[in-house]
Amino acid sequence: MQIAVPKEIKNHEYRVALTPSGARELTERGHAVVVQAGAGEGAGFADEAYQAAGATIEADVDALFDGAELILKVKEPQPEEVARLRPQHTLFTYLHLAAEETLTKGLLDSGATCIAYETITAPQGGLPLLAPMSTVAGRMAVQAGAHSLEKAQGGAGVLLPGVPGVPPAKVTVIGGGVVGENAARMALGLGADVSVLDKSIPRLETLDDRYQGRMKTVFSCADALEEAVRESDLIIGAVLVPGAAAPKLINRAMLSEMKPGAVLVDVAIDQGGCFETSRPTTHAEPTYVVDGVVHYCVANMPGAVARTSTQALTNATQPFVVALADKGWRRALGEDRHFAAGLNVHDGQLTYAAVGEAFSLPV
Ligand code: NAD
Repeated sequence: MQIAVPKEIKNHEYRVALTPSGARELTERGHAVVVQAGAGEGAGFADEAYQAAGATIEADVDALFDGAELILKVKEPQPEEVARLRPQHTLFTYLHLAAEETLTKGLLDSGATCIAYETITAPQGGLPLLAPMSTVAGRMAVQAGAHSLEKAQGGAGVLLPGVPGVPPAKVTVIGGGVVGENAARMALGLGADVSVLDKSIPRLETLDDRYQGRMKTVFSCADALEEAVRESDLIIGAVLVPGAAAPKLINRAMLSEMKPGAVLVDVAIDQGGCFETSRPTTHAEPTYVVDGVVHYCVANMPGAVARTSTQALTNATQPFVVALADKGWRRALGEDRHFAAGLNVHDGQLTYAAVGEAFSLPV
């Protein structure tokens, strides 16, 4: 099968959908891999590394799409990419269609088969192609928070672990899922005093068990949130209510109760944010201050660590890519109902209920 890897063209997107070692696995199985010139540059993978893996480098993006059967990407296709899609194509990428009506209609018109990373499920539950990016974002949240606590960044001038004779900073993580656990784990590793708030008792039990009480687990309620607001140096927002906008757990009035120079990192900003005063920021200007509280609200945190993120993402996508290449999409999805949950669009038809509901389109 001919597999194409275009260079990502979304603003500030440096990841790539296939690493040279992924390309090697495919070429060794007899597939033709064609990579757009410079596609891996942002993640630190040179064209020569792909060539050494048996891939061909193509500078002409139209030729890249025209010859391909399977197209591997990271972000949802941009308008000029949608215009290049044809019924012969299977597209495998993040799509997030429920928030993108124009894109959904463009993909329906293209006739292509479109499989979304984010709706593939796992036998043990969870979303296996979303989790690696949540892991990255959770770990980064503590780095971002620690940096934002520095005086020059508008923070209180507090060092997370403290030093002998000076107590550590208090870090509260709201939401103990994939992002929250990774954030809490990093904060623990740095020696902070860490609490995790969640509404799910089973989740709190898992965390308590896994970390042997080294992080405090707290049931998330109004009183617990108010106490966290008063006492924390750093609060990380990591809640998710599937299919809904993030609940606003800290409102503007509560900011006046916070310590001056305290920091809010809102990882849930891609679902609207869980603090009332959050608004999306970029890596170019990641923070702003409201009522003396520093806000970090970058919507695509993993983009800043494109190399790690590319490796983490492709580790998770590679088995699915190999199945698509070896078997074709019909057989690959037919044999695996969790993989089949990724199919969003085929032959001008929506095949994913939540997207149909979002735009009142037939499924
Ligand atoms: P997850 O489903 O693994 O965890 C969410 C947790 O929030 C669950 O344990 C749930 O019980 C808890 N929760 C729900 N409502 C709560 C409440 N009111 N109080 C306390 N806890 C509550 O989700 P995740 O993968 O950890 O993702 C968390 C958020 O981070 C999502 O919005 C996701 O889109 C976002 N995210 C952002 C970036 C970024 O770059 N900004 C990157 C990855 C993920």
